[in-house]
Amino acid sequence: MIQPMQHLWAPWRMEFIKAPKPSGCFFCEAAAADPSNDATHLVLARAELTLVILNRYPYNNGHLMVAPNAHLADLEDLPAGTANELTALTQRSLRVLREVLAPQGFNLGINAGKVAGAGVADHVHQHVVPRWEGDTNFMPVVAQAKVLNESLTKSYRELRAGFDRLA
Ligand SMILES: [Zn+2]
Repeated sequence: MIQPMQHLWAPWRMEFIKAPKPSGCFFCEAAAADPSNDATHLVLARAELTLVILNRYPYNNGHLMVAPNAHLADLEDLPAGTANELTALTQRSLRVLREVLAPQGFNLGINAGKVAGAGVADHVHQHVVPRWEGDTNFMPVVAQAKVLNESLTKSYRELRAGFDRLA
């Protein structure tokens, strides 16, 4: 993750690091899945060429990822239409997060390549991480897995409603 993330303590990230990786790409799986299963894949919104997914192993509450539907590794290889839509969907994500979670700031970034910290290096995705003053102190309090799962479900419901409202 980009540098400021190192200040956030997110022990459930170990679940992600230790979890068996599916042979497929979960962005592609989510993109190809029937929209009626969006909650299973944590898909918050779909545009024509891109989609937004809530991060199952978040650095902070409301940590989203915006990705193209196509399995492309590098931002510079996105067709112009896809790149434009990625930006537009990132803007929409910021608007929804501001309205639903009222963060005081954001970290935005793309980890290009494994060496740069990409968990899924071969399918480019833009991280959108809401930030609140003091969140580096708050996160250890909610670090138990049960609490995280409940808050993930709640965040999904609230944010999905926000994306549907601010279409
Ligand atoms: Zn993919």
